[in-house]
Amino acid sequence: MTDIPRKVIPVADLRYASRVPSVPSQLRAPTGMLSDTLGRPLRDLRISVTDRCNFRCNYCMPSDIFDKNYAFLPQASLLSFEEINRLAQVFVAHGVEKIRLTGGEPLLRKNIEVLIEMLARLRTPAGMPLDITLTTNGSLLARKAQSLKDAGLQRVTVSLDALDDAVFRRMNDADFPVADVLKGIEVAGKAGLAPLKINMVVKRGTNDDQILPMARHFRHSGAVLRFIEYMDVGATNGWRMDEVLPSRQVIERLQAEFPLAAVNPNHSGETAERWRYLDGAGEVGVISSVTQAFCGECNRARLSTEGKLFLCLFANQGHDLRALLRAGHSDAQIAAAVGPIWQGRSDRYSELRAGLPPDASPADAGKRVEMSYIGG
Ligand code: SAM
Ligand code: SF4
Ligand code: SF4
Repeated sequence: MTDIPRKVIPVADLRYASRVPSVPSQLRAPTGMLSDTLGRPLRDLRISVTDRCNFRCNYCMPSDIFDKNYAFLPQASLLSFEEINRLAQVFVAHGVEKIRLTGGEPLLRKNIEVLIEMLARLRTPAGMPLDITLTTNGSLLARKAQSLKDAGLQRVTVSLDALDDAVFRRMNDADFPVADVLKGIEVAGKAGLAPLKINMVVKRGTNDDQILPMARHFRHSGAVLRFIEYMDVGATNGWRMDEVLPSRQVIERLQAEFPLAAVNPNHSGETAERWRYLDGAGEVGVISSVTQAFCGECNRARLSTEGKLFLCLFANQGHDLRALLRAGHSDAQIAAAVGPIWQGRSDRYSELRAGLPPDASPADAGKRVEMSYIGG
């Protein structure tokens, strides 16, 4: 008899280090006023609902690593919608006011509308609904925008790295046409998922020639285009500093064609620096994660697809909240475990890396969590 190779499907994924938080014996009820070691509150929760994606953007899921042999998380590892909703409730009690669904590609998660309906019912301790949004590559948006809106989603952010079809197909590495994403953006606008934000990751020498065409396209549209510096997140994208185009230079290129004026931030902790066209054509933004760290006001926590809490995009260790859920702990117990985790937070990776030589590779780079797993 010949041996047939068997595919082993793990029931739980252990690819990233994590620890199971301890549950205090004295349960302290959440006050909504948590503060970490640097005085930063907890206001924003990003939830990754799948680690899968139909694109292979080279800066996020390079196709030579995320190929047909790549072991994505098995279904049993994923948090169920009920589990996500329970954890979301705990975080809201601790002060979270905004939830962003992400991934991977969140619209690939089956029946995502059901989760949105659940989250839309949550209220802050002051009785306010949450700000619920979602980041998508837009490939399924034309089909899904109306049902997402009906489920209670307020806004979407669409990632779009080029207007030129050939450049876009090269960047998504899935031969996906730009026209379909533009259609998705149009349908989302008509469905009222507004104000729309469009995120463009700028890689010098790859798509920086698309900055002006993108600006021209989205002026007067009501959508806010944001240019994001290519980040050294994860451990697989082969990041190099010379491929980062500093936001300052993006603004200079825009200014050469369209006069701009700086706009005050909407709120503290806002990642994008805002600019408005002086001719009234709307706003643009820049997110300078590499050249101008904004850790000082970072109020974001991230929940991975399998329920690990990460306190920083560049963390290499998570806190396994799924273990608490599946061990049968109550919401009060989980809340009591989460509080001290945030209170002990001291992460400020981007600020620290700013002090290193430009191309220095931080010692732990090989262990860092991937963006498709933790959520952007
Ligand atoms: N698939 C969805 C999408 O692309 O919008 C959601 C997940 S994706 C990880 C979230 C955001 O992270 C996207 O806007 C993407 O462009 C951004 N992103 C991924 N890798 C990045 C990198 N290395 N530098 C900067 N932004 C990155
Ligand atoms: Fe997929 Fe988004 Fe990553 Fe691109 S950035 S590979 S669309 S998860
Ligand atoms: Fe927040 Fe970490 Fe990014 Fe700093 S590096 S802004 S702490 S996620």
